[in-house]
This record gives sequence, C-alpha cells and structure tokens, in this order.
Amino acid sequence: MTDIASHRGGALLWPENSRISFEQTAKLPVEQVEFDVHPTRDGRLVVIHDDTLDRTTDGSGPVSARRWDELNRLVLKGTGGQRMLLLDEVIDIFRHTGIVLRIEIKAGPDRVPYPAGHAAGVVAALKHAGVLDRSVITSFQLGTVVEAVAESRPMRHVWLVLPQVQVDVGIDGVIAAAKAQKVPMLGLRTNMLDAGNVAAVRAAGLGIGGWACNDAAGIAKLFDLGVDVFTTDRPDLALARRNALRSGA
Ligand code: MG
Repeated sequence: MTDIASHRGGALLWPENSRISFEQTAKLPVEQVEFDVHPTRDGRLVVIHDDTLDRTTDGSGPVSARRWDELNRLVLKGTGGQRMLLLDEVIDIFRHTGIVLRIEIKAGPDRVPYPAGHAAGVVAALKHAGVLDRSVITSFQLGTVVEAVAESRPMRHVWLVLPQVQVDVGIDGVIAAAKAQKVPMLGLRTNMLDAGNVAAVRAAGLGIGGWACNDAAGIAKLFDLGVDVFTTDRPDLALARRNALRSGA
C-alpha cells in the first residue's frame, strides 16, 4: 500500500514546518514526514520552506543571509510565538517514532543551488545524528540529488520533477536523466501522474512518488495508481482514504 508523507508537517492542518506541525504529525500513523532545509550564513541547517523569511516569519530577506542567532529571534507566523527549528531539533521530535524523515534540500534565491558540498553537508548531519538509514533526500535540483546519492548510496533519494520539465523533455527524457545519474526514484506532481507514466517509470526500474496531493480526489487517484509514496498537506484525509481502502469500503 502507498506510503503517506505529511508535507511540511501537514501544512493545511498546522503552521508549516513548525514544532506544532511536527509534534502533531509524530502522533499520526503516517510513514514519512516531509520538511525543507536551508543553510544559515554561519553554516547551520534550518527547517523552513521559502528561501526568504517574509511569508512564514516576522523577518524578511534571504534565510541564508542570516546567522542562526538572528534567525532564532524570529517568530513563525500562526504559531503563538514559536521560532523556526534546526534540522537536529526536528530529528529529535521524530527520533522515538518509526517515521521516515523526508528532507527536501532547497535552492537559494532565484532557484540557484547553494554551493557544492551543501547536500553532502545535509547527509553528514543525518549520519552524525544517527538517522541516515531512515532518511530520504529530495530536491527539484537534479545536481543536488546526485550529490546526495553519491554521498549515501543506496538510499532511495528522489528527484522532484517540475511539470514544466516533464512537459519539455517528456517522461522518457525524465527517466533517461534519472537513470544516467543513478537517481533511484522520481516524484511527479499529482496532476502530471497517470497510469502510463507510472508504468513507464516502473518499467525503468525506478521508484515513483507524487507531490502536491492535497484534496480527496488527488489522494484517491494516487492510491488507485499505486505510487510508492505521496506528500500531502492533509495527512488526515490521506489516512482516512487508506483506512477505507483497507476495510474494503
Ligand atoms: Mg518541500
């Protein structure tokens, strides 16, 4: 049965990438929790989605332009005063659970990847925390995934494929690029997934996941397609659907 990943800690249920969202997700019978990491100016790894602070905190400007002691003073919107978390703090929330950490390595401003070595640094941090064997690394930047795969093979790290990329090169082009780079798994947007491209990806020996799966129709579709895993802002809906399927409803 398809695995469920609580996206940004369940972003339509709780403030995304916050302690609240992760502590609530930790109570759910989901297989994975998804969150996003950026580097600080002084080399720490922080959990936040955007490359800038404006949307989700009371700060502004690029995340990577600030030191951790500056970021640590900012408040996450909608949390009643909580601050953003370091990667190690999120790891600690899930350490006592069996939930897989699904870490998205984000690019910097204008989608420019952070300097080479950043992905390797994330892998090293996971290794140091003793959780590399229960972690999955994802990125929209193929080079970032390749760096992670090279550092920690044979983990099932994931290339997240933008719809524009999939349209431009076709599913066969996407598969060829992943195979050439030894990337073992693809993540396609929910509206870009169908039985034909799931079959093509599987025939190539790659894993297949879905992202942006946030309503009942999309969730039902991805269970029907039998993808390996999908990320959802509504883990409650996904769990309800899976329970119904398991009970034969
Ligand atoms: Mg993400």
